[in-house]
Amino acid sequence: MNIKTLEFVGSFPSETACPDSTFPEYAFIGRSNVGKSSLINLITDRKEIAKVSSTPGKTQLINFFEVNESWHLVDLPGYGYAKVSKKNRAKFSKMIDHYLLSRKQLQCAFVLIDARIPLQEIDREFISKLGASGVPFVLVFTKIDGVKLGKLTDNLRDIKEKLLEEWTELPQTFITSSTKRKGREEILELISKLNKA
Ligand code: GDP
Repeated sequence: MNIKTLEFVGSFPSETACPDSTFPEYAFIGRSNVGKSSLINLITDRKEIAKVSSTPGKTQLINFFEVNESWHLVDLPGYGYAKVSKKNRAKFSKMIDHYLLSRKQLQCAFVLIDARIPLQEIDREFISKLGASGVPFVLVFTKIDGVKLGKLTDNLRDIKEKLLEEWTELPQTFITSSTKRKGREEILELISKLNKA
């Protein structure tokens, strides 16, 4: 898929405030600092559409982008940032949950997982919640350039094994590196396929 047009629609504080549109939505979500903004910039082929932040946990709104006048890319706030107060974390978590669990337009959530480290408990819990709620999602491993191939293979195997302790099958997975521009086509291909479905 070519990105012919890309427009920032707006930032919204809750699911109910999000645009009342029939465009299919694709949401990107992950732990703060997982590489979400960089991946969104890679996918959209824009340098700074999503702000790559040196202050993790800053984006606390739901950002909407309209792509090719036919679908919405939704940038959800990163979860689990330790420096955000407990109260605020609970508030964002509720807002994210509400969007993911009730949004009719949502076609697929792209859940970003850092490929360089073992599966974090907060990620496992998040995936567990999505799975139990029947939210359509895929897993996107990020920053694969940041780890040697052998270690990457081990990490991915361990992460999958851990998830299979709870689930009988895994969702589709993608391996990406924004630095090496890897994984863009595959993600756009899935969006393209789902848009046609
Ligand atoms: P976000 O908080 O999830 O939106 O993450 P950002 O996109 O702001 O990235 C967080 C940090 O990870 C920044 O220092 C980025 O430069 C770095 N980063 C993002 N993507 C990659 C990647 O593919 N490879 C490597 N090695 N670093 C990355």
